[in-house]
Amino acid sequence: MTAHRVNAPRRFVRVALALGPMFAIHLALFAIPFVEFTLWSAVLMLAVSRFIGLGVTAGFHRCLTHGAFKTSRWFRFLLVAAGCAALQKGPLWWVAQHRLHHKHSDTDSDPHSPVTGNFFHAHFGWLFTTDPTLADARIVRDLAKYPELVWLERLWVIPGVLLALACYALLGWTGLIYGYCLTAVLVLHVTFAVNSVAHVFGRRRFDTNDGSRNNAALGILALGEGWHNNHHRAPHSARHGFAWYEYDETYLFIRVLSRFGVVWDVKVPPAELTRPLASPLSRG
Ligand SMILES: [Zn+2]
Ligand SMILES: [Zn+2]
Repeated sequence: MTAHRVNAPRRFVRVALALGPMFAIHLALFAIPFVEFTLWSAVLMLAVSRFIGLGVTAGFHRCLTHGAFKTSRWFRFLLVAAGCAALQKGPLWWVAQHRLHHKHSDTDSDPHSPVTGNFFHAHFGWLFTTDPTLADARIVRDLAKYPELVWLERLWVIPGVLLALACYALLGWTGLIYGYCLTAVLVLHVTFAVNSVAHVFGRRRFDTNDGSRNNAALGILALGEGWHNNHHRAPHSARHGFAWYEYDETYLFIRVLSRFGVVWDVKVPPAELTRPLASPLSRG
C-alpha cells in the first residue's frame, strides 16, 4: 500500500480496477427507465441505505478512523463488511485517506480539499489525480495488524456483490437496480458531499483550522456526518450532532448498540469542547 510512482498504462489499469465497481453502479442507472419502481423498491432502498450507510459512518469512519467507540472484533468485522458493500473501496484505504484529511485539512497535503482545489476535485476528481490503489500504510498500522481487516481490504468488492445478489433474489431487477445500485450511488455521493459541500457550504460554530461547516441537509442525509464543523472540532467523538436539534442517526445507532452491550467506551466530547466560538482546537 506504500505510495510509489507507476507508469501510465499500468496506472490506468490499476485505476480502472480500483474504481470499476463505482463506475458499474453508475452505468447500471441507465436501466432505470426500463425497470418498474414499486413500494417494495422504496422499502428496500431505505433498508440498504441504512445498512451500507451505517457501515461507512459507524464502521469505516467513527470506529476505524477515529476509535470513537470500542466493540468486539467480530462485530467490527460485520460493521466494516457492511461499509465495504457501499463500494467506497477497502476500509484501510478509506481510513488512510480520511486520516490524511484530518491531519492536513484544507492544505495542499489534504487528499480532497475544495479550498486548495476546486469543488469537483474535492467531490470525486481527487480519485483520478492520485493512484486510488495506494495509500500510506504507516497511517493505518494500528489496523493492519488485524487479518480480518486486511482480508476485507483485499476483497472489498465481495460484500457488495453479495448484497447486490441478495437484492436481486428478493425483488428481481427492481431490487438490483433501485435497491442496490441506485442506493449505493446515492450513498456514495452523499459521502463525497461531506468532503466537498461540508467544507464550503454551511455554518461554522467553531473556529477550527480548516473550512469545515455544519450543513443541516447533509446532517440528515449523511446520517449525522454533515455536522462536519463539530466533527473537526472533536474528531474522536462518537457524537457529531452536539445540539439537540442536530439529528445524528449514526450516534443514535451507536447508543442503541451500547444499550445492548454490543459497543462500549463510547466517546463524547467534554462540555468545554462543544461550547460555541471557543478557541481553535488542534486538529486530530
Ligand atoms: Zn473534513
Ligand atoms: Zn473524520
